[in-house]
Amino acid sequence: MKRSHSFLTTLRETPAEAKIVSHRLMLRAGMIHQTSAGIYSWLPLGLRVLKKIEQIVREEQDKAGAQEVILPLVQPADLWRESGRYDAYGKEMLRFCDRHERDMLYGPTAEEVITDVFRHAVTSYKQLPQLLYQIHWKFRDEIRPRFGVMRGREFLMKDTYSFDISQEAARLSYQLMFRTYLKTFARLDLTSVPVKAPTGPIGGDLSHEFQVLAETGESEIFYDVQLEQLRQDPAEVDIDKLIQIYAAADELHDPKTCPVPEDQLKTARGIEVGHIFYFGTKYAEPMNAHVSNQDGERVPVHMGSYGIGVSRLVAAIIEAHHDAKGIIWPESVAPYKVGLVNVRTGDQPCDALCDQIYQSLSNAGVEVLYDDRPERAGVKFADMDLIGLPWQIIVGPRGAPQRQVELKNRLTGEVVTEGVASAIERMIA
Ligand code: ATP
Ligand code: MG
Repeated sequence: MKRSHSFLTTLRETPAEAKIVSHRLMLRAGMIHQTSAGIYSWLPLGLRVLKKIEQIVREEQDKAGAQEVILPLVQPADLWRESGRYDAYGKEMLRFCDRHERDMLYGPTAEEVITDVFRHAVTSYKQLPQLLYQIHWKFRDEIRPRFGVMRGREFLMKDTYSFDISQEAARLSYQLMFRTYLKTFARLDLTSVPVKAPTGPIGGDLSHEFQVLAETGESEIFYDVQLEQLRQDPAEVDIDKLIQIYAAADELHDPKTCPVPEDQLKTARGIEVGHIFYFGTKYAEPMNAHVSNQDGERVPVHMGSYGIGVSRLVAAIIEAHHDAKGIIWPESVAPYKVGLVNVRTGDQPCDALCDQIYQSLSNAGVEVLYDDRPERAGVKFADMDLIGLPWQIIVGPRGAPQRQVELKNRLTGEVVTEGVASAIERMIA
């Protein structure tokens, strides 16, 4: 993408309404636009990141054997009356009537809809286990939307639902998703701490939240230092053991009953990026989602649900990866891999070399944002650091005649001068 043709506009000033760094940086980098309180438009740069995160989340779900579906955003109240949650859910649920005076709602979650899908399709234990997921928008009329996409009213969630014949089988699904979450967050370059969680309006008896450590997190978390072993390969982690290790958030932590000795207890702030529940037959029973078991009896199916805040993750990643100059994207989710800076647009050798680099990288499938605007070099450097692409290739009038460029690593700040061919080669590798 050439900057001169792109929609992107950056802000030099810090927007006054933004209280935390990720919100400030998302606005300054032109990733989002607030359309209404807690309701955002995703602009091209922001959408590229959102899509990359979504894709990593999707790949890990697929690897776990979950199958993707899309469920409706607008749901009939009758399904929620069946489960008994229509009155229980409260004002966070946006309710309205269609033209036939039928009560409808904008889905805050989808247990009822998926249970309805399931009961029409699955009749026997032989068809179990099943894991279904979607990546789709949710609406919750949060009382205090804040911090940009961190706590929006409309937000993108990945929600998976598991269906098993028994509690023991359901625990295996739970553990599979638990491991899948560790893998997903590791690919996003995040340190996630799983903490035991209250089950809230969704109900059930086994639940964990995945908290990303960040100073601006809304939860205070307390955990046994042993949990830091999580930095090891998620594929190797013994989930059963891990679940035994102490970790709790906010009021669930009671210093009087905490089993961890003080010198082994860590305190940090966390952002909840994922939440998993096992809730047994809570929906299956009232909604009549029964299957026949091995003895031919009709039994309610055991279910779990597993959420990831995909749009919240964009902000959480920025909270974990930034400096005073701007965002520092991990390569896995960067909107472009390379930022190409033409220090003197209009200078023939600079323009020619930039064009060549832009063409070669684009042809090789490397995503490049080429700043070809007739702006001062300082403005272009500041913008590139703000946007935070992992690599910058800087082409200036001194090096261009010798076909020399500077290659800058945004994370380390390291700059090396090299020949254009080897710089291109390194970016393609
Ligand atoms: P929170 O405690 O942050 O309000 P929750 O417990 O109500 O979240 P869940 O029902 O567990 O949320 O939803 C699954 C995931 O969706 C959460 O872990 C979080 O990452 C994300 N999420 C929930 N509410 C919001 C929101 N208002 N804005 C953005 N993401 C959200
Ligand atoms: Mg939650």
